[in-house]
Amino acid sequence: MNPPATVPEGLNSPVPGESVCLRVAGLADASGFSAVPGSMLIRADGPGRLAVLAAGSQTEVAGHPESAKARVLDLGRSVVLPALVNAHTHLDLTHVGPRPFDVGAGFVGWVDMVRRERLADADAIGRSVRAGVALGREGGVAAVGDIAGCPSSGPQAAGAMELAQSGMRGVSFVEFFGIGRGRERGLPGAIRAIEAASGRVSAEAEEPGVRLGLQPHAPSTVSLRVYESALAVRGLALSTHLAETPEEHEFIATGRGPQRDLLERIGAWDDVILEEVGKGLTPVMHVAGVLAGAKGRDRRESIMLVHVNDCGDEDLETLASVRRSGVNLFVVYCPRASAYFRAADTFGPHRYKEMLARGIPVALGTDSVINLSMEDLAQGLSTWGEMRLLYHRDGVDPAVLLAMSTTMGASALGFSPEAFLFTRTGPIAGLIAVETGELRPDDDPIRVGLTSGKPARFLFNNNESCLAET
Ligand SMILES: [Zn+2]
Repeated sequence: MNPPATVPEGLNSPVPGESVCLRVAGLADASGFSAVPGSMLIRADGPGRLAVLAAGSQTEVAGHPESAKARVLDLGRSVVLPALVNAHTHLDLTHVGPRPFDVGAGFVGWVDMVRRERLADADAIGRSVRAGVALGREGGVAAVGDIAGCPSSGPQAAGAMELAQSGMRGVSFVEFFGIGRGRERGLPGAIRAIEAASGRVSAEAEEPGVRLGLQPHAPSTVSLRVYESALAVRGLALSTHLAETPEEHEFIATGRGPQRDLLERIGAWDDVILEEVGKGLTPVMHVAGVLAGAKGRDRRESIMLVHVNDCGDEDLETLASVRRSGVNLFVVYCPRASAYFRAADTFGPHRYKEMLARGIPVALGTDSVINLSMEDLAQGLSTWGEMRLLYHRDGVDPAVLLAMSTTMGASALGFSPEAFLFTRTGPIAGLIAVETGELRPDDDPIRVGLTSGKPARFLFNNNESCLAET
């Protein structure tokens, strides 16, 4: 029988208790494991919950006692990989859609556009998040680090509640501002939004599903003292935009520029801000002392530094030494967003490879749909596109790219990375299939997938993630 040419649409997950034996062109995960051709024995342990029983060559998997009674699914022209993690996105901006970046208006002009377009109504936010979840699923994303953005009415967790009902797993970071005249309001507002949502969103780190986190927006909108207070809140992961744009660099170093103009324009400016900024520091060095004091946070209280496009030698060494000192920090790199804002024109190439080499885990994120193209979105709101960009542009080892998009992303969000590996038996977050045709014995399944030009699709149409602790 000829194997199907494509991954069939509408392939249902196995029913609870059922086992399925996948026969695929190739199989790989981020640990270096691969099998060409490959086979995998999975069992449904509950609705949407899959467990790996065995993975390897067809002969190896056939030796498993459950193999004989398993339903065989022949996907001989696709490679199968673990489902993906999108460690940084803004699902509540999905309704805005892709927009070109106006270089003349700069980052603050772009922020003005987002402020105009941002929704405040909970139902409308819910619809935008739902559309974003659907786009994530189209691209094989099983877990997200999502920012529940802050409208002018104050921090809100409507996005978290929608995400929690979607079947997508992850952390919803409630965003807040807190600088100048508004420095006392943002964090308490975010805590209130989290408390209000915690009856409906799992705040318990032990649970699979969606957890809540804190997102101080960025150093140009949140004072150092407020960062310190946010890091003193325990039991929540924390994410922040950091070292993203030239405008942020100018503001932190000099206390001037478009970011200050924005604060003045919205009535948030207060000269007290100059006690912290305008001291010639980079954004990373500006927050380094506060980060260095954030020791003793467990893996569910991770700190995610998003972007870090602006990273000089001292910044890099400082982040590495803070991480070495036991601070549970991660960098999240959004390659297509950095390219969209032309970060490399000012800061040079992103230093993610050096960060990895110095022991800083780097997870991949997409940022919002605004900075992607319609062509990108045709393959979903997915870190698969980020992996492809880095592979083609920088020639990164495909297994490293898969780690940045699976195990490192999971760890950054405080989930178990094992749910994104095939090399042990147990729950798996999900499976993606990429149509590649048949592989040669020495082919790397991840590389062939990345160069196929094909999207990463969930293998099963109701393939919900399963991130329960094991
Ligand atoms: Zn962002």
